[in-house]
Formats: sequence, structure tokens, C-alpha cells
Amino acid sequence: MDFEDTPEQAEFRQKAVEFLEEFAPQVGGQDDSSSMYISDPAEEKAYVQRCRDWQRIKYENGWAGLTWPKEFGGQGITGIMEGIFKEEEAKRISASGIFAVSIGMVGPTIIAHGTKEQQEHYLPRMLNGQDCWCQLFSEPGAGSDLGGLRTMAVRDGDEWVINGQKVWTSGAQNSDWGILLTRSDTEAVKHRGITYFLVDMTTPGIDVRPLVQITGVAHFNEVFLTDVRIPHENIVGEVHGGWAPIMTTLSNERTLIGGGGSRASMQDLFALASRFGAADDPLIRQKIVDVGIKIELLKYLGYRSRTAATKGEPPGPESSITKLSLSLLSHDIGNLVMELCGPYGTLSSSDGVDEGRWVQDFLSQWGVRIGGGTDNIQRNTIGEKVLGLPSEHRVDKGIAFKDIPTS
Ligand SMILES: Cc1cc2nc3c(=O)[nH]c(=O)nc-3n(C[C@H](O)[C@H](O)[C@H](O)COP(=O)(O)OP(=O)(O)OC[C@H]3O[C@@H](n4cnc5c(N)ncnc54)[C@H](O)[C@@H]3O)c2cc1C
Repeated sequence: MDFEDTPEQAEFRQKAVEFLEEFAPQVGGQDDSSSMYISDPAEEKAYVQRCRDWQRIKYENGWAGLTWPKEFGGQGITGIMEGIFKEEEAKRISASGIFAVSIGMVGPTIIAHGTKEQQEHYLPRMLNGQDCWCQLFSEPGAGSDLGGLRTMAVRDGDEWVINGQKVWTSGAQNSDWGILLTRSDTEAVKHRGITYFLVDMTTPGIDVRPLVQITGVAHFNEVFLTDVRIPHENIVGEVHGGWAPIMTTLSNERTLIGGGGSRASMQDLFALASRFGAADDPLIRQKIVDVGIKIELLKYLGYRSRTAATKGEPPGPESSITKLSLSLLSHDIGNLVMELCGPYGTLSSSDGVDEGRWVQDFLSQWGVRIGGGTDNIQRNTIGEKVLGLPSEHRVDKGIAFKDIPTS
């Protein structure tokens, strides 16, 4: 593909720049690329509000849901054009973080598997910044092996009663709605007895408890569900048939995580090396260039998935390559910046180098390597689904969920 803008893309870029220059200053806030980096509760509250305000402004001016089809309130433009908008947006404002799950994962799932009523009700509220969503998938005993989830859903007339526990739910403390996976049939094999719900996070019986990470930030939560009642109409897809919408959500998640590219550039790393007197060290120079090449590769992988999306291809197992590449890159960058900063790398927040930005990148690498599926799981997916290698041996294959031995 050609990496220069076509005349049509250049014109689109110009329009995006005009919109951003007029409206982004109203919301402000450049240095807050994600709630993963905010530990102060007041700052977090302000960040959440800034995200909601910015989403509303984008919606009102025709810049929300860029790649969503027009019939669902989106702009129906290509993934490449969306990439151009995001590139320009990132230069001027960072206030999209809390809507990443909503617009990047929940919206595409409701578009692909939701009923007409669900699409008409939930999609506009997501795009206009009214509803923010979280992903209630992982449990204490079900992460990589999501098919092992045990949160129970029992039907009671027109409602379902939910009991169980979720964990690592990013942003649940700021979310209005959640996508929730439950076990609804224990007689079926494990991937067949799962039902996928949309749940209002204010429903009685939902208890959200923030978890503080190594970074000092409570990015994710434990969520306890006790006799939570959800209307039958909030099911996405078929009863017991949650696996199809799950696959749509997860492949969009991998593309979303990897497709965002790297927060650091090679220039940032050279500037840091210069400040610490290491820019002439040949070994450091080699490491910076190595990381710089990987940053570029990740960018082009992002272009590739956007080009595929433009051709109408849904994100497939190749999205594991993008996710794994970001993961390995975050490890390389995290370790390199610590080597450059030396003992100063142990300081955080306002005492740290660049307000603690680099120590946050270092400490966040483990979260990046686990969230959205661990490195090992991405390697399994690439091996089996992309390279066609034999599947892992599965001892639970063909066995009813209730008969699978547990510890
Ligand atoms: C920053 C962050 C944000 C997150 N946000 C959310 C969220 O919003 N919503 C949500 O539902 N979840 C979220 N998660 C949870 C995440 O999806 C899980 O942590 C992840 O899928 C791993 O599951 P686990 O923690 O249960 O680890 P386990 O599945 O228990 O894995 C433990 C170890 O075993 C390895 N392993 C497991 N199975 C295999 C296998 N078959 N082959 C090879 N190795 C294997 C893993 O790679 C890992 O090293 C988040 C996690 C993080 C770190």
C-alpha cells in the first residue's frame, strides 16, 4: 500500500485538523492517554468527564463512530480514514480512553449480533457519550480459558437471575453498562452453555470494588453479582449461544489494543538517552533503533488491519499478531527506559522523570502482556488459527460442563 495521503485523504485530514483545532481546546487535556495512568481520584473524575464531553462534541459534529455503518449512526468511512483522524486527534487531545470498550468492542458486537431494538437503543447513547461500557468477562477461575466461567444465570419468567464474581473489569467504576458472560446451561459442553447479557451497572446486587495495581492506579475492579435481575430482552445472540458474540468482542479487543500503536516514539527515546548522557553509546543506539523498527512495524500492522476492515473483513485471528507485537514492544520499551533513567527510574509521579511517565510505561508492561489475552494465548491462536498447527490437547472436550473436574 501507499503510505502517502491520496488527494482524498489529504482533504479529509485537512477537515479533521480544522475540526480538532476548533473544538479540542474546549475540552483540553493532552497528557492523559489512558485512565491506566491516573491515580488521583479527583484527576480521574475530571478525566472521565473530559472523555464524556469530548465524545459528545465528536458526535454532534459528525466525528463519532467513524467506521461504523451509517445505518447505525456511524460515519461509514474506511479504517484508513479513521486512522488519519486518530493520528491528528492524538496530537491535540487524549480524551477517548473510557469509550474504548464501548465503541471499539461493545458497539461492533451489538451491530453484528444485537436485535434491532438493542441497536436502536444502545448504539446512539454510546456514540454521544451518554453511556460508557465495561467488559464483565474474566473471573477468578476463568481468564485465558473463558469457556470455564461460572457466574450463573437462571431464568425466572421474563428475567434472569445472576450470581457470581467477575475480576479485572477495567473501568467498571466509571461505567453505566456492562457486557456480561454467564453460565446458563451446565449440561452442555463448556462453550455451548454460555449466555451473553447487557447489564445496567446500577442494577441492585452489583458491587464494584476497585483493585489497585503495581502502578498505584485502580484501573480495574472486582465485581460481585448477587441476585442481579436482568430482563430477557437484554440477551445478545441466542440463549446458551454466547460464544459467537464473545468471539466478535474478543477479536475487536485484540485489534483495539494492538492497533493503538506505541505511546513512545524513537525520537522520545533518543531525547531521553541524550538527557542521561547515553546517546553516543553504541549499544544503547542499537537498542533504540531496534525498538524504533518495532514501533514502525506495529504501525504498519495497524495499517494492515485497517485496510482489511476497509474491505469489510471482520478482525480475525491475525489480530493476535498485532496484540502480541504491542505486548513484546511494551516489554522492550519498558526495560530500555529503565536502563536509560538508571536510579531515577525508581521515582514515580512528580518526583519521577517526565512526571513518572517512563516508570508507568515500565510497570504497565505486565498489564499490557496479560490484558486482552496473554502472550502465550496469542501464540497459541497464531499457531493454531493462522499457521494451521495442531490444536492443544483438551481434556474437557465433549464433556458436559457440570462433569468437568475442578480443584
Ligand atoms: C490491564 C488489564 C485489563 C483487563 N481488563 C479486563 C476487562 O476489562 N474485562 C475482563 O473481563 N478482563 C480483563 N482483564 C483480564 C484478562 O483478560 C485476563 O487476565 C487474561 O485473559 C488472563 O487470564 P487470567 O488472569 O485468569 O490468567 P490465567 O488464564 O490463569 O493464566 C495464567 C498463566 O497461564 C498461562 N496459560 C493459561 N492457559 C494457557 C494455555 N492454554 N497455553 C499456554 N499458557 C497458558 C497464561 O499465559 C498465564 O501466563 C484485564 C487484565 C489486565 C491485565
